[in-house]
Amino acid sequence: NTSIMLFTRDLRLHDNPALAAACAGGDVVPLFVVDRGILAGPMAVPNRLRFLADALADLQASLRGRGADLIVRAGDPAEEAGRLAHETGATSLHLADDRSRYALRRLAALRDLPLDVTVHPGATVVPSGDLRPTGGDHYKVFTPYWRAWAAAPRRGVLRTPRTISLPGGLYPGEMPDLERPGVSPGLAKGGETEARRLMKAWLSHGVDSYDDTRDVLADDKGTSRLSAHLRFGCLSPLELAVAASAYEPYTRQLAWRDFHHQVAAAFPDLARRDYRPRGKGWRSDDDALKAWEEGRTGVPIVDAGMRQLRHEGFMHNRARMITASYLTRDLGLDWRHGYRCFRYWLADGDLANNPGNWQWVAGTGNDTRPNRTMNPLRQADRHDPDGAYVHRWLPELAGLPGKAAHRPWGTLDEPADYPPPLTLPNGA
Ligand code: FAD
Repeated sequence: NTSIMLFTRDLRLHDNPALAAACAGGDVVPLFVVDRGILAGPMAVPNRLRFLADALADLQASLRGRGADLIVRAGDPAEEAGRLAHETGATSLHLADDRSRYALRRLAALRDLPLDVTVHPGATVVPSGDLRPTGGDHYKVFTPYWRAWAAAPRRGVLRTPRTISLPGGLYPGEMPDLERPGVSPGLAKGGETEARRLMKAWLSHGVDSYDDTRDVLADDKGTSRLSAHLRFGCLSPLELAVAASAYEPYTRQLAWRDFHHQVAAAFPDLARRDYRPRGKGWRSDDDALKAWEEGRTGVPIVDAGMRQLRHEGFMHNRARMITASYLTRDLGLDWRHGYRCFRYWLADGDLANNPGNWQWVAGTGNDTRPNRTMNPLRQADRHDPDGAYVHRWLPELAGLPGKAAHRPWGTLDEPADYPPPLTLPNGA
């Protein structure tokens, strides 16, 4: 019996239920289709394409190490899977669960093929839809979700298949050229090997002090930096959650990830429409938006975050909250502009956590305190007490030591090459 394993956002061999099921059946066609539809859309951006290229190269090497190969095709996934089924006589196809609108259309097209199609868990710790509150189809509030999530049974972590047997005579295909100009110079490397190296280092030192370090803006090692690996499935979220199960502050964050996934699955318009209707409209100001995007608002803690984003394709969570709050609460601009900017730059940018968190900050989301406002300066004093984060990203403020770097306005040392604030932040 031959099965097709269609890799999508699960670019790994470890704890991959779809792959394990395909291998149990006999010969396997490990397939990745460079989807022309995705390549033409807004999700295909330089940083994520580079991360994807790293992940595919790593997957190819791992499959070769197990006697198989990555079969690469370009075009429409259902058409290519159909062609390969015809060529190899495959009778079944396995893939990971994905609830985006696009993924559901892809699944419908796959189900039209003369193949037995099975969808497997693996994108989240607890599959979206498994936990439902009484009388609802998804959890709208995190705390009860977290309680249910923590108590939910876990499936076992799966072993990596030792050998994978390919049907004979298959043309592996060409690795696509996914290089686009404009990749962030400090972008992290993608791929399962790198993800596992980071995970092991994090579990041996890092996770145990997470509660103390997670909000220190200048501490690059204070958080796990695994988000982009989880985004592309280079790492199994379940394996990570099981390994880190003794560290509740950290597993709670993994539950937030699952939470937004189940909201997005139930509310597919999450990236387009306010989850909770908002009364007053947003302001329109293209110059302010551009200054925010480019890290030139004149508010150092905001600009430092935006410059980290552009330089690394990553931004510290605390800085994401501060920059998002400044855009929506202080500048009064629509969160969807911010969401699109993050979508362009973030290696971990996705259709659940990105809009879900933006809606949460903007007060249009499903949290219980939609009117919370953040005070960017108090945040800066607390989470960057010696100004190290601001100094790293804004060298023009080097002359203002310590906390003074957070308030360059009207001081004698006010740097000439730093703009005045668009608007003073809340609480200034
Ligand atoms: P850690 O602190 O080490 O956390 C471990 C893991 O938990 C993360 O890798 C991530 O998978 C998950 N996690 C942590 N915080 C959150 C959260 N608030 N919501 C959901 N999952 C979380 N995260 C994304 O993965 N993709 C996005 O597109 C994204 N956009 C965001 C936009 C805004 C406006 C905000 C405020 C947050 C956003 N986040 C997003 C959540 C969070 O900022 C990142 O997951 C985190 O900074 C990644 O760094 P880390 O891996 O070191 O996290």
